[in-house]
Amino acid sequence: MSSSPGTARQITVHRYGSPGRGPKAYLQTGLHADELPGLVVMQHLLALLDQAAAAGRITGDIILVPYANPIGLSQYLFGKHAGRYEFDSLGNFNRLYPDLAAPIGDALSDRLGPDAGANVALIRAEANRLLAAINPRSEVDHLRLELMRLSVDADYALDLHCDDEAVMHLYLGTALWPGAADLAAELQAQAVLTAEVSGGEPFDEAVGGIWWQLAKRFPKAAIPAACLSATVELRGDRDVSDDLASADAAALFRFLGRRGLIDADPGPLPKALCAATPLDGTDIIECPHGGVLLFKQAAGATVAAGDLVAEILNPATGARTPLVSRASGILFARAGHALARPGLPAAKVAGPVPLPHRTGRLLTQ
Ligand SMILES: [Zn+2]
Repeated sequence: MSSSPGTARQITVHRYGSPGRGPKAYLQTGLHADELPGLVVMQHLLALLDQAAAAGRITGDIILVPYANPIGLSQYLFGKHAGRYEFDSLGNFNRLYPDLAAPIGDALSDRLGPDAGANVALIRAEANRLLAAINPRSEVDHLRLELMRLSVDADYALDLHCDDEAVMHLYLGTALWPGAADLAAELQAQAVLTAEVSGGEPFDEAVGGIWWQLAKRFPKAAIPAACLSATVELRGDRDVSDDLASADAAALFRFLGRRGLIDADPGPLPKALCAATPLDGTDIIECPHGGVLLFKQAAGATVAAGDLVAEILNPATGARTPLVSRASGILFARAGHALARPGLPAAKVAGPVPLPHRTGRLLTQ
């Protein structure tokens, strides 16, 4: 949908294999537009898939969207690029995806039974039917809808993002762990954060959450977690290089091989670097006021509850406010710039124990 006369945007979609033959994987990147590591990973992955295709080794249905957000890529303000939120609606590009679980459940309530395969087929058909019937109301709604239409019936849906300064980490539905442990090990993730509902309807939950929401609503029916959907955080936004991207693309390629989408020997699974921890065990340490953020811990550091993570320097008085972790675990991400303001997430620490203050919307806005 064009947002204004004389403009038109497009996404590029690469397809390998054939629909209905083997498992289906969908990979997209750049949904937040200011997160570029995945755009390079996709090009390295495309080269590997081209080789596999030329050798007749694609055994599944693989879709790649190498930049998922042309709206966000075009947003400049005062000479600087601004992703994450859409200028028009001020909405986060990775929130507000349509929640299909409720209408699918309403439509199929008397047809879901003990046959898991039949249920998967019914649910996917209904999801496709619902998405085909939605008329988008804005350009950004249309973008969300097209990405859902490409992915909603996939067995694997990987959304490649990054944080500010960060180590490799994943967001997953609780039902997908430990099933997705091979993905985490291949990517050498240092944190895996699980939630049943993280709040805000991000893409990965809109696609994958259908399954565990329906399984909860219809406990007598056999409804598997039929889509391994994950948000993959490819480190920090400055970690853009061919070296990192080629290694990450090779890891994703091995994952697709291990899952039967490519006829290629993935070799032994690398040793996992972490276990999953609940997203409500992640302490998001926010700045209580403005000032200059001075970190005392690097991304990737292991910290204990009570440890000093950073200080906010008050430039008027020289006073320093300590920011302390309430979780014990890995500090997997921290703010990428030093100008603190109230509410800015300064650092994220993945702890194994749910924290009392972590309720409601569990993701940063
Ligand atoms: Zn992102």
